[in-house]
Amino acid sequence: MLEIRELCVAYGGVSALNAISLTVNAGDFVSIVGPNGAGKTTLFKSISGSVPVRSGHITFEGRDLIAIPAHERPHLGIAHVPEGRQVFPNLTVEENLEMGAYTETGRRDWKSNLAFILNLFPILDERRRQLAGTLSGGQQQMVAIARGLASSPKLLMLDEPSMGLAPAVADSIFEAIVEIRKARNLTVLLVEQRAVEALESCDRGYVIETGRVVLEGEQNELLSDERVRKAYLGM
Ligand code: ATP
Repeated sequence: MLEIRELCVAYGGVSALNAISLTVNAGDFVSIVGPNGAGKTTLFKSISGSVPVRSGHITFEGRDLIAIPAHERPHLGIAHVPEGRQVFPNLTVEENLEMGAYTETGRRDWKSNLAFILNLFPILDERRRQLAGTLSGGQQQMVAIARGLASSPKLLMLDEPSMGLAPAVADSIFEAIVEIRKARNLTVLLVEQRAVEALESCDRGYVIETGRVVLEGEQNELLSDERVRKAYLGM
C-alpha cells in the first residue's frame, strides 16, 4: 500500500531523513520507534506532504505521492494525526469531528463513523457539545484520533498519541488504537517513544535512528532483539 524508497529530507543543510526505505502492506499495523530527533515526525510529514522531499520515492497504492499536492492526499485516504493533539479548542467535540469529515468518503460515511467513534470513546459522547479546549489531555487525544477517523482513511498515521499522558490514560489510547484497527478495515502507522506499548500493539516495526532504519522486523523479532531490549525496552 505504502512504499518508501531511499527517502531523503533535510531542513536547510541538515539532513533529517537519510535514504530511508520502508514498506507498509494494506491492513498492517506498523510501529516506528526511535529516539528524539530520529526523524519519525519528519517521515510522517513527508507522507502527508507538509515537508518537501529532497530525493527518493513515496508510492501510495501504486501512485507517486510526491507528485500529489498535500491538500489532495487526505482524499486518497491518508489521515495524519499530528503529535501534540492539535484539536480546534474553540469548537465543540462534534464540530471537531465534522472538520475531519471533509473528504468525499468522510461525508458519505459521516453517520456510521460518528456512531463508531462515540461507541469507541463514550466520554466523547457525553462531551459532544463541550468545547474541545476544555477537555483533558487524554480526551483531546481521543478527539484528534477520532477526527482522523472521520475522514474514512485507508491509512491512519498516528504521531505519538501517548505523548504527555499519564500511563493509565496512554494505555487506554493504545487499547483504542488496537480496537480501531480490528473494527475497521484500516492500515495503521504509529510513531511512538513508548516502544514497549507500540511494539506490543503492532504486527511489524521499524527502529529508526538519525534518519536511518537500523532494524526492522515482525513484532516478536523486535521484542526479543537484544539491541531493542537494551536501548528501548530498558531490559
Ligand atoms: P521527536 O520524538 O523529538 O518528535 P522525531 O524522531 O519525530 O523526534 P523529527 O522531529 O522528525 O524527529 O526531527 C528530525 C531532525 O530534524 C531533528 O534533528 C530535528 O532537530 C530536525 N528538525 C525537525 N523539524 C525541523 C525544522 N522545522 N527545522 C529544522 N530542523 C528540524
